[in-house]
Amino acid sequence: MRIVVAGAGIGGLSAAVALERDGHEVVVVERAPQLTEVGAAIVLGPHAMRVLDHLGVAPCLRERNTPPQSSTYYDMVDGEARVHTELGEVGHALYGATLYSAHRRDVIDCLAGQLQRTQIRLNSTVADVEQNDRAATLVLEGGERITGDIVVAADGIRSTLRARLFGETPATFTGFLAWRTVLPIEKLGHALPPATKLWIGAGRHVVHYPIRHGTQFYAAFYVPADEIHREDWSTSGDVEGLRASFADACPEVRALTQAVDEAFITGIYYRDPLPTWSHGRVVLVGDAAHPVLPTSGSGAAVAIEDAVALTRCLTRFPSDHAAAFVDFQRRRQPRTTRLLISSRADLATYHEENPVKIAARAPMNRAVMRLDPTGFHRLGWLYAHDEVAESAKDSDTFSRTNLAPPERPAARRAFDLWANALKPEDSLDGWVSERAAFKRFEQANFPVPEGVLVEPIDCDGVPAWRVSPPGASRGRTVLHLHGGAFIFGSGEGEIALAARIAAQLDAVAIVPQFRCMPEHAPGAMLEDVRKVHDWSRARAQVALLSASASGANIALRLVQTLRDEGAALPGDLVLLSPFLRFDMRSPSIEANAPSEAWLSPRRLLQATAAYLQDHEPDDPRVAALAGNLHGLPPIHIYAALGEALADDARLCAEQVKAAGGTARLTLVAESVHVYPMFPWLEETHAFLADLAAMASVRQAG
Ligand SMILES: Cc1cc2nc3c(=O)[nH]c(=O)nc-3n(C[C@H](O)[C@H](O)[C@H](O)COP(=O)(O)OP(=O)(O)OC[C@H]3O[C@@H](n4cnc5c(N)ncnc54)[C@H](O)[C@@H]3O)c2cc1C
Repeated sequence: MRIVVAGAGIGGLSAAVALERDGHEVVVVERAPQLTEVGAAIVLGPHAMRVLDHLGVAPCLRERNTPPQSSTYYDMVDGEARVHTELGEVGHALYGATLYSAHRRDVIDCLAGQLQRTQIRLNSTVADVEQNDRAATLVLEGGERITGDIVVAADGIRSTLRARLFGETPATFTGFLAWRTVLPIEKLGHALPPATKLWIGAGRHVVHYPIRHGTQFYAAFYVPADEIHREDWSTSGDVEGLRASFADACPEVRALTQAVDEAFITGIYYRDPLPTWSHGRVVLVGDAAHPVLPTSGSGAAVAIEDAVALTRCLTRFPSDHAAAFVDFQRRRQPRTTRLLISSRADLATYHEENPVKIAARAPMNRAVMRLDPTGFHRLGWLYAHDEVAESAKDSDTFSRTNLAPPERPAARRAFDLWANALKPEDSLDGWVSERAAFKRFEQANFPVPEGVLVEPIDCDGVPAWRVSPPGASRGRTVLHLHGGAFIFGSGEGEIALAARIAAQLDAVAIVPQFRCMPEHAPGAMLEDVRKVHDWSRARAQVALLSASASGANIALRLVQTLRDEGAALPGDLVLLSPFLRFDMRSPSIEANAPSEAWLSPRRLLQATAAYLQDHEPDDPRVAALAGNLHGLPPIHIYAALGEALADDARLCAEQVKAAGGTARLTLVAESVHVYPMFPWLEETHAFLADLAAMASVRQAG
């Protein structure tokens, strides 16, 4: 095929290298007078380096650079380390390739150096495209026309071709600008170890690392747009303005601003995901298709991934470019959309100005550092991705994701609900927007059964709901503690579950809305639950304490406290998919990842860090299983065999029995997290029948 590529940036040149290797005749059209990029460096993650290795480009980059050994986030003002990621050899072992940082010019040179037959047309600005059922023709400014079988539009975030094909829509300005520079290391006055540093603070962040074997350094300073008073951002700004923006920063950042004597300014933009990436014989790649924010550190990486993906699709459909383009978009859109959204969420987190969220972030980040010292749980999805292997899969194999949902249609329905409980875009305002989205998920899917009376009550200052199934006796109470990974859940969302449980015991349920994490200290949950328990206990016997997921840990902590004080204990404890282990080391987290639709390792890390904060995972003040389990009421545990928390359920049963207590464990095959939330499942019916039997034994006794 003869393929015309518009744009000789990293995306266009990568596409050219991949297409040429596959035997296509390639012409690259670039408006710049020369192939170069000034004043900036770039991080090429393991996912990019793996593809560059496949394309034969990586050795050239390795020759010019020393890989960073780590990447660390620091607080902008106090300079303290917040989150650390291991790179270098550790990263290689985790992700199968090593992350490099490089001068953009070197990346361009190494890519171009790999081209043998491709023609690169500089000083050629694309103005338009024309196509018919046999060919596509780029029309250059000045009227020259270049024709190919297909056109690959790699002309960046302000793509002319996208505008021509889909209409002109402006990119969204984030309100931030970046001062970027690459300078000789001598300007800094000292050598730099091979490591990447990021400082984050209210409304600004800084990225800094050495390149070219430490002979030069890169620095990028992101600031609010109104801190730069210029009409034209493209040229070097007055660095006094830069220094003023970081006058309150920690000494290392201030020293860095002093070392900078020139920097050029870039506006930071993104676009919402495009619904369609191709039109006729023209296909968009890289920033033209999916421009992400620099906070992802991966815009170029995914443009490089696109190159190999598109080339393989064209090989798979050699005489049907339309099918190849559809396949290409289907394969690449989910990943790039996720990256776009996470890069926006990261920008909001980096620049957070809300004091409540800033205060909550520090202890949570310290926990993340302890629980995920290499960074694998956070970055595995991005860095471990192997586009060379993915794009080699045929369409059918590719369609089968790594997820292994239950085969039973009823359980599959519950699995799909969990899988879609939160969408990537729900994370745009961190846990605040995720919590709101989770509430919408609960309201939409777990309506209160008909005939159940729900009354908001105040239990000594803690809000709760009194849930009365038809004909329930007020002499008996079920206290139900909701789950939601310590961060998201709400009492309201589990009213339906609590009503069904209470109905089996002919009791009224009390469902507290306790304070959640991370904006509160871990002890707040227990404090609130204790108040609601005492309020309930003063009015009726607490026949049963039921809890789902993270609520189970609070339930156990509550009965431990009551036992220690010699207070009356609830009759029985029912724990649904209990979340009880906080060291992120349960084998079922990784082993069951394919059959777990909700609690991915990443979400478990987020939840655990939000809860633990500055506590250790085995601190008995927060982790019930680390405390004394002797003398507790009988415990009935229900979980799915294939869920991430299956080992927590097993461990709980073992430890309670080892402490001389009674624990009954029911693990259901082919089911989902907290399955009793889904009334249509047969295992939910069995669970409710169990409760009814338990209640009648109690009543008979
Ligand atoms: C501040 C900042 C830091 C970043 N850091 C990283 C990082 O560390 N790691 C990472 O992976 N990504 C990073 N990115 C993202 C990355 O730079 C882009 O995603 C990547 O460059 C996209 O490559 P591209 O080839 O699609 O587009 P571009 O790099 O924009 O290339 C487009 C090319 O097309 C040419 N062109 C445009 N219009 C025409 C026309 N009409 N006719 C002919 N030629 C045309 C342009 O001159 C250019 O050469 C960063 C981005 C920014 C803004």
